[in-house]
Amino acid sequence: MVNCIAVFCGASKGASDSYIENAKKFGKELAQQKITLVYGGSSVGMMGALAESVLEEGGKVIGVMPDFLDKREVTHKKLSELIIVKSMHERKAKMSDLADGFIALPGGPGTLEEFFEMFTWAQVGLHQKPLGLLNINHYYDPLIALFNHMADEQFLLEKYRKMALVDEEAGALIKKLQQYQPPALKTYMNESKSE
Ligand code: AMP
Repeated sequence: MVNCIAVFCGASKGASDSYIENAKKFGKELAQQKITLVYGGSSVGMMGALAESVLEEGGKVIGVMPDFLDKREVTHKKLSELIIVKSMHERKAKMSDLADGFIALPGGPGTLEEFFEMFTWAQVGLHQKPLGLLNINHYYDPLIALFNHMADEQFLLEKYRKMALVDEEAGALIKKLQQYQPPALKTYMNESKSE
């Protein structure tokens, strides 16, 4: 059962209003399903809009902010809980520990870095938690195409490609996380290419 989701998303707002609108819809969905949000702790961009929408709907939000970014990322002052850490590494480790699953909303390199760490940790069996991409405005279509290319070119096994759950709609994506069954562990030795 997924009761707490770490969400990675942009410190920017995106080019179209629909990014923020859908981030808010997603936050509302989390609160209505009583799923705690863990995120970077910022009040700006997609991150701020998401946290705000969960709080407005009466949900719980835990922010994890490195102390050196406190001013630059404008720490949200009204979170249910704020955890101050020393580094980006500590931030990711803390978010990973607290959450039962991970979702990336549209964002830039920071978002992808966080998402990929959770994806690769799942591949090597460091955790068995589900992870997904909320494909607002088909933002992640090029990344999904790259995953398919990786699988076609045999750099990514099909069973691991399927670990990255994708949906355009918040409720449907959360349902996929709830139903997720982790694949067997990566060994690099006995993997069949057709798997
Ligand atoms: P971006 O998607 O580039 O807008 O970045 C979104 C968030 O990811 C920002 O709050 C960054 O502080 C955070 N971030 C960027 N790089 C890392 C990292 N290596 N580890 C943890 N958080 C990061």
